[in-house]
Amino acid sequence: MKRFTHYLKSLMLLELLQGMGVTLRYFVKPKYTMHYPQEKIPKSHRFRGLHALRRYPNGEERCIACKLCEAVCPALAITIDSEMREDGTRRTTRYEIDLFKCIYCGFCEESCPVDSIVETDIHEYHFEKRGENVVTKPQLLAIGDRFEAQIAAARALDAPYR
Ligand code: SF4
Ligand code: SF4
Repeated sequence: MKRFTHYLKSLMLLELLQGMGVTLRYFVKPKYTMHYPQEKIPKSHRFRGLHALRRYPNGEERCIACKLCEAVCPALAITIDSEMREDGTRRTTRYEIDLFKCIYCGFCEESCPVDSIVETDIHEYHFEKRGENVVTKPQLLAIGDRFEAQIAAARALDAPYR
């Protein structure tokens, strides 16, 4: 019986007619094309875009050069060198991310014990010269400084789920 119904449906082209009905419905509906960049769709606070290194409110950089982010990065995009400071704390002397290698998985952000490396919701960036894809520590800190309020607000929204 089931086979017969299936055969009958195929013969009457019911599925084809259903599909054409959907096409017709959307044909007369008003279009909603987004006029980017004048219009922008809202982004999730979990959006994973350009990276940033954060500081504490007193200006001290958060990163303690534990290298967890470097170890966890599946794309081997992070390179860190570190040294001991005079006060006995450890800090990075080099922190670089190759954005051509990065797959924006967010593992670096999740592994960081001090909320230092984060991914911002910035996705509008480009490179004009060879080598600019490797972002350095000063550049990452500058991004963090510039967008700290935005980053902190996104982290606060996500805090209940962490
Ligand atoms: S987002 Fe993923 S791929 Fe990119 S640097 Fe972080 S861990 Fe590596
Ligand atoms: S950014 Fe975080 S995980 Fe990476 S080395 Fe610094 S403290 Fe460790």
